[in-house]
Amino acid sequence: MLLVVFFFFFSVQCVPINIEKSPPVPLLLLISFDGFRWDYPDLYHLPHFDQLAKRGVRLENIENSFATVTFPSHFTMITGLFEETHGIVANTIYDPTFNESVTIVGMNDTKWWSQNPWTQPIWITNQLATNSSSRRSGVISWPGCNIAINGHLPTKFQPFEPNRSFDSIVKQMFDWFHENESTRINFGVMYFPEPDETGHLHGPHSPEMAKTLAMVDSYVGQLLQMIDRDEYLRKYLNVIITSDHGMHEIDGKHQIVLEKLIDKSLYNAFGKRAFANIFVKRASDIERIYANLSTLTNYEVYKKSDIPDEYHYQFNVRIGDILIISRIGYEILLPGDDGSERRYGDHGYDNRAESMHPIFYAFGPAFRQINRAKAFRNVDLFPLMSYLLDIPIRLTNGSLENVKHILIDFPSNDFSGWFSRLIHLLTSLFGSSVIVMIFVLLSILVGCIYSVAACRHSSDSLFVENNDFAIRYRLLDDKNGSINNLIVSESEDEIVER
Ligand SMILES: [Zn+2]
Repeated sequence: MLLVVFFFFFSVQCVPINIEKSPPVPLLLLISFDGFRWDYPDLYHLPHFDQLAKRGVRLENIENSFATVTFPSHFTMITGLFEETHGIVANTIYDPTFNESVTIVGMNDTKWWSQNPWTQPIWITNQLATNSSSRRSGVISWPGCNIAINGHLPTKFQPFEPNRSFDSIVKQMFDWFHENESTRINFGVMYFPEPDETGHLHGPHSPEMAKTLAMVDSYVGQLLQMIDRDEYLRKYLNVIITSDHGMHEIDGKHQIVLEKLIDKSLYNAFGKRAFANIFVKRASDIERIYANLSTLTNYEVYKKSDIPDEYHYQFNVRIGDILIISRIGYEILLPGDDGSERRYGDHGYDNRAESMHPIFYAFGPAFRQINRAKAFRNVDLFPLMSYLLDIPIRLTNGSLENVKHILIDFPSNDFSGWFSRLIHLLTSLFGSSVIVMIFVLLSILVGCIYSVAACRHSSDSLFVENNDFAIRYRLLDDKNGSINNLIVSESEDEIVER
């Protein structure tokens, strides 16, 4: 009897990931619908999203990073790094080391994406992992997917095309998953630009948004249908559906015009209406300009050295001498923006604002069924996906600890997790007789001691980071003259005040 109990106990604890031998490596599909606010499924009738929630996990929301805009957020999602760390700090960036600025349309040079050698999109990490001959990544339309980042491109990729249909993207993705064994992908990543565009043009609460969301909902229905008809993908594919940021309504009445406040010859400003990085031409003007802007009541204004830690938006040359952030719903018109482009919805604000948070749904063999599971951060997506793909987890700003509650058979050292799983198994096998339960409890005690020892090795290989060990980067002095002027710091103590 004791042996039977041990057998079930170890079968639960020692299987590292709940994915079977065939296919040879795990399958994962990541989908981002741009600007899909966390509460749209509660505000609008979206039956297929309701179906998603029943099928797997729906998180309360994702806690995204500052700045809450498209390119930076998408790069954070696939690198696990805060924006100050990976360097894509806005949709319009100025880099003083290049003395150049760029918008998303022109961000086609690797120099923008490879600011430091630690930045690695997970599609590359997948390709470079053990048994890499079976691992291939296919990426469609995701920001940066057509750029070699630190020397690597995805195995298969198709850059963003504005009018491309969802249908065509999914069809291509499924074809890639179904190629012959020597060329097929095990990791698919895809991006779709709605409902963000509708959010800007009509606002998050509008009949047009209802229509667009109904369309996106039908895409999800189509996706579920395709997976369910496909035995291979239905059985083995894990799917994550998420987004980069939310959307807040804009009334157009709360604006400041930056050049009316400061002489525009003194600085250059880069960003958008929700926030801006201000690069002051002469260092001696910084205090004066800061003093002027800091009198504004509905805008947060920081000198670079004073940007609050919780933004994780300071230690990078691409962040301005002064950072200005509009309070939610407010706007800054930068030089060159005459305000003629009317927006009814916007994002880019404080990442802690509720309306900036995006959705997260996931289903497949690795996920539990939980509705409204506890939120985690967008940097945690990287360790989550590394776990799902069964690849070593690189050191990033994310933590696997934060996502374990949504995973089945997580190889945790948490005693309560082991306990409840074992009790569940035994009651289903033997019923709830008191004698059996007493026996079970005794068995657990012995089993736990043995199991900790037996599984120590596999657990160690997964837990390479934790909540207290966030990677940070800091700037070197200009006199070091390095283009790559970021160095890694492994503890808060090592961060040098500038
Ligand atoms: Zn976006």
